[in-house]
Formats: sequence, structure tokens, C-alpha cells
Amino acid sequence: MEQALEKILMEQCGKGIDEATNEELYAALLCITKEKMADLPKIEGPKKLYYISAEFLIGKLLSNNLINLGVFEETREVLKKHGHELTEVEELELEPSLGNGGLGRLAACFLDSIATLGLPGDGVGLNYHDGLFYQKLTDNKQREEKNPWITEKSWLTKTDYHFQVPFKDFTLTSTMYDIAVPGYKNGCNQLHLFDIDTVDEGIIRDGIQFDKKDIRKNLTLFLYPDDSDEDGQLLRIYQQYFMVSNAAQLILKEAEEKGYDLYRLHEHVAIQINDTHPTMVIPELIRILTEEKGFNMDTAIDVVRKTCAYTNHTILAEALEKWPVSYLEKVVPHLLPIIRELDERVRRDYQDERVYIIDRENRVHMAHIDIHYGYAVNGVAALHTEILKNSELKPFYDIYPEKFTNKTNGITFRRWLAHCNPALNACLEELLGADIMKHPEALEGLLDYQDDKAVLEKLRAIKKYAKLELKKYLKMSQNIDVDENSVFDIQVKRLHEYKRQQMNALYAIYKYKEIKKGNLPKRPLTMIFGAKAAPAYTIAKDIIHLILCLRELVQKDEEVKKYLNIVMVENYNVTKAEKLIPACDISEQISLASKEASGTGNMKFMLNGAVTLGTEDGANVEIHELTGDDNIYIFGEGSEKVIELYDTNGYHSGEIYDSDPEIADLVDFIVSKELIRIGDPVCLGRLYKELVSKDWFMTLLDIKDYIRVKEQALEDYEDQEAWAKKMLINTAKAGFFSSDRTIAEYNRDIWHLNEE
Ligand SMILES: *Cc1c(COP(=O)(O)O)cnc(C)c1O
Repeated sequence: MEQALEKILMEQCGKGIDEATNEELYAALLCITKEKMADLPKIEGPKKLYYISAEFLIGKLLSNNLINLGVFEETREVLKKHGHELTEVEELELEPSLGNGGLGRLAACFLDSIATLGLPGDGVGLNYHDGLFYQKLTDNKQREEKNPWITEKSWLTKTDYHFQVPFKDFTLTSTMYDIAVPGYKNGCNQLHLFDIDTVDEGIIRDGIQFDKKDIRKNLTLFLYPDDSDEDGQLLRIYQQYFMVSNAAQLILKEAEEKGYDLYRLHEHVAIQINDTHPTMVIPELIRILTEEKGFNMDTAIDVVRKTCAYTNHTILAEALEKWPVSYLEKVVPHLLPIIRELDERVRRDYQDERVYIIDRENRVHMAHIDIHYGYAVNGVAALHTEILKNSELKPFYDIYPEKFTNKTNGITFRRWLAHCNPALNACLEELLGADIMKHPEALEGLLDYQDDKAVLEKLRAIKKYAKLELKKYLKMSQNIDVDENSVFDIQVKRLHEYKRQQMNALYAIYKYKEIKKGNLPKRPLTMIFGAKAAPAYTIAKDIIHLILCLRELVQKDEEVKKYLNIVMVENYNVTKAEKLIPACDISEQISLASKEASGTGNMKFMLNGAVTLGTEDGANVEIHELTGDDNIYIFGEGSEKVIELYDTNGYHSGEIYDSDPEIADLVDFIVSKELIRIGDPVCLGRLYKELVSKDWFMTLLDIKDYIRVKEQALEDYEDQEAWAKKMLINTAKAGFFSSDRTIAEYNRDIWHLNEE
């Protein structure tokens, strides 16, 4: 590494390592790393996976690529020897803005694990130039700005692959860009990102506004452009079809180049459809096979059905895509005969209109295409899959019980342990004498040390160090002060009412009032939030506003300030997650039971020794089973009760509000004179009204139990040794949540790669 670095710095800027700036070092390391990855063997086998996803939330790549290439430590030391810090060099890398939240991050963890396990599998997606918006917090509100991340030198490599993508009124020529995905001490796969050359960032004005009709200029500008109007929805259909038509053409081209018989495509290719955004790959493949490859309809459908598998990520009705037939007519009329044919076949075989593809209102249910015309359907946590089978997708489960499986999500330990918490990783490797990156199950060995005072002390020291690092970072990035001796209670995730940041905010109100009454906590509490709200999601933005107003209220109150600190991290993303998660004491996973399909943030926190405060939802259920009752704080109603309340219309927040003055007291504070003085009465009033009159995600149902259990956790935190033991047990039991385990299960049950 030292020689390579010297050579390239000399060539590029005529300097030695000592004199090079961080910018020059970054450019040189990017170049060396890309060359090293190009030299890795391409992972190959008899069958290849294509993982199609609208999002890949990959995070910064320099350190992770160095880790996977096995040269991270060496590089760090070379830089150190010459007076530089790798962490400072890495600060200059812009985080690729190609994802939104958990679903996109999952896709990124999966690519890492697929390559690490030596499985041939590439990602396919879009090269959004501005990705998801950049969140600015000003005047206690979220403002959206563009988020350009593609620089002159980047991890993208332009290829000479181009495809013609036909739309109703015009055809676009694509360009394929690749990002190398090296496995940990293994060969290399690729992430293929499609783009068009005519995209024009110049059409963006005031924040993130742009002409939604100018497809040639806007197609790959933004991830999830606002779809609150028809033009926005049409643009999303343009994006989705562009993604899958390129995917289909790439898949068929590679299969033909390898000399495969397309009638046996399913023996050589598996396509994983990540949520419904890539669903149109099914009719598109059928279209190409029948129109261009001489297949008859029956055979084309049969081959495609044996090739495609679908992952469901949500039971929220509003998140299940249904495109009006009329919209598809306007963008991709050539797919409609296929989609109608698929629907007719369903109608021929089944009487139940709940499983039709095209409904009475002439909307195409994308998930229904996936389930009928794919060979596997999976949920992403045990509870989620049970809910799919027993309620949300029950009519489908009754038809195809053999298609349904569970694949509990996971996270890559390369990023979420080795990279983000090197001190903890080093400590674990020393204690356990194993390469945890290859053998996550070895973490269980930590249980032998649960009563070892020296080890517990060491874990506390590592946590303290991470808290100090976060303190420095918050000071530097947002000029926010935090006390490393306070409890760090963290809720970071996309903002959604089902995730219930509003319940955590009500806790902040409770704590504020308690402190005002003189019930002082034994130790100060730092409540950290981080969340972007979708630009058109009004109530979500109101919740952000409430949190920021509460921060201002507390900051201006010299008395309360000593005990309570409310922090909102701006523009929560992977880079910020990597700094927040190691520093966390209490991990907030408080979604309404049945609503969070899995969660993966919960797993990252657990691995890094945070204790979960959560509901029996998503993968929290599995975390609970692994840690046992003593090492997790569970509260609230369970999923069965919640589903019953929905089914029977049995929840009325107004009744709780009217009958419980303690709850009313907390909710009323949202529109109190103290807060109205600080905030926007329209926003606060709207949120108040939402909570007392609707509260679709049942905040008031669980608020009291939440407060009770959170108070218990804070009390238990005071027994530092007992708490350290809880930390240890959480880390020890986190091995199950390695995405290497998840991917091994996908391969064993769904993909069957490497099986002749
Ligand atoms: C892991 C992760 C998520 C998912 O968090 P959940 O708590 O599971 O919703 C979202 N955003 C980022 C940046 C992440 O790293």
C-alpha cells in the first residue's frame, strides 16, 4: 500500500505522502482501491442472482472496500506513519444518495454478504444524481435541498453497455455504470446502476422543485420524486420501467453470451424483486421473450415464473403499489396486453377477487403480479411473515402455501461492527480469538465473560469512548453540546407515524414536566432523534417541528437543561448512523406492534451493545427471544390485539384522551402557550388534532406503558455493572443478525446458486 500510494501521489500531484492533502490522499486511495477491486476474480458459477432494487443505501465506500480487501489496517497505519488520519480522509467522501431507509440499506448489506459468501450476484438499480433530498433543519422545520453526490472521481465506472428502452412516445438509450462490490476476503460482484446521458441537474430550482414532465432531463434525478399528483406518479412509472427494462435486457444479454438456452433461464438465473418497485420486470421479460425470442405465451410465463422471487417489506396498505391502468397506458402501453393476459389467467383459475391483478377500479396491484408470477414470496422477520400468511396475504397463502417463507433480515458486520466500532471489534476478536467477520456465531463465546468484571469494565470504556467521539462530532457538525455522562437514548430512522417518534416526543414532554415539578432524574438524559420526513408527508413534518420546538424550550430553560437534552441530528444517513449507533445506551424501537416489518436499525444497535426499548414488533420479537426478558425492555400491546383493534374499529384515541387526565396533560402540552410561543401554531395544532381525533398508529394506547418501562430502564442503568452485563449479552446474541446468515438462507431456500 505504501509504495502504491507513493507512486500514484507522485504521478498525480508530484508529492510524497507526507505533503499530500487529504483531498489528494482520497483521490489516490480511490484510484488504488478501484484497481485492486478490478484485479479481484469475478465471482462466477452455474447460476447467477440479479437483485433488483429501487434503492441501494450503500454508504461511503472507502473504508469498507479496504476492509473487504483486507488492507484496512495497513492503510490506516501507512497514513498514520505519514501524519494523516484515514477517518479524516474519509470525511471527504460524499455518501452516495441512492436510498431512503431500511429497504435500501438491506439491499446494500445483502450485496456485501452475497459477495462475501462467494455467490455470483449483482445488484441492479438506478443512478439517481440527487438521490434522496438533503435535509436541512432551520427555524425548527425540515427544508429539502438537492443532494448531489456524483463527483468527477467516484466509485462509479462508466461501461459501454447501452440498451434501448421503449416508452409510449419515445425511446431512451441507457448507459450502465458499475460500482464494484468486493466480498470480504473474496472475489467481486457488481452493482449496475442505469442512467441516461441527458439528465440535467440544472432544471432543479428552489429546493427540490423541477419539471416533472421533462422525462429526458429528470428521469434519474431523484429517488422517490413527490408522487402526490399524476405527473409525479407517471414519473415513478417511467423510472420503474426504465430500471426493469434495462435489467431484463442485461439479464438476457448475459445469458445469451454464456450460451444458455433461454428456455432454461431459471436454471441459470434467479431474479430477486426487492419490494414492488421492480415488479414490471415480470411482464417486461415475458414481452421480450414472446416478441423477440420466439416464445409462446405459456412458455414465457412458465420460464419467468420459475425465475422471479419477491420480497415483501410492508403491510402498510398505502405502501403497496397500485398503478391505475390509465397511467400505465400513458407510459408503457406495450406492457398492458401482457398485464391483462396475466390478470385473465388469474381470473380463469380463481374466483376470489381479492387476488385479481386488476381491480374493479382499474388499478394494477403490483404485489399480486409478483405473487402469482413468481416462485417465492418472503417476509423479512418471523412475525411479519406470519402476519402475511394469516392476514395481509392470506388469500394468496391459501392458494400457494409452498411459495411463502420467512427470511429474517440481517446487517453486514463488516460495516456495522468492524468499520463503525473498531474498538469493540478489536476487543471481541481478542477475547474470542476468532474472525467475527467470517464467524458471527463466535460472538456467543462472549457469554463466558458475563460476570468478568474486567471485561464488563472494558465494554463500558468502549461505550464511553464512542459517546465522546459522538460528542465531538455533534459539536463539529451542528454545534450541539452533549454530556457523555448522560444516558444516550437514540431513535434514528425514517419519520413515520407508525414508528411513533411522536410517542417519544410525548415522553420528552413528560420528562420536562416532571423536572419542572422537581422530580429530578438521577442522571441527565440525552434524547437523540434523527429522521427525514417525506416532503409531502405533512404530519411527519409536524412531528419534526414538535421535536425541534421541544429542544428549543428545554435549551432555554436553565433548570431543565441540566437534566434533559433533546437533540435532532440533521440529514440522518448511513454516515451519521455509523457515528450514532456505537454511542447508544438505549435503542428506541417503538413502532406499533404489527407495523414494522423487521427493522434493521434494532439489530445494529444490539450488536453495538445498546439495550432495546421496544414493542413486540418485527425483529424485536426475535431479539427478545435471543436476549431473554432481562436484557431488553418490552412494552405495549402485542400485534394480535392491535390487529383486532383495526379489524373491529375498536380504537378511539379521543376516548383515551377524555378519560385519562395524565395522558390529556401530555397531549395538551403540544398546543400549550409555552410551545406555541416557540413554534408554528398551524403545525402544532394539526398534530394535536391528529392525536386526539385519529391517532391511526395508536400512540395513546401505549404511551403509559412506554413511560413506565422507560423509567424502569433509566433506573436500571444506574447499576452500571448490571447494565454492562446487559450490553454484553446483547452483543453476544447478535450473531444471528449477520446478513451472511440471511443470505445463506435465501440461497438455500430460494436461489440455489452454486447447485449444478
Ligand atoms: C439501518 C438504517 C435504517 C433502517 O432503520 P430502522 O430503524 O430499521 O427503520 C434507515 N436509515 C439508515 C441510514 C440506516 O442505516
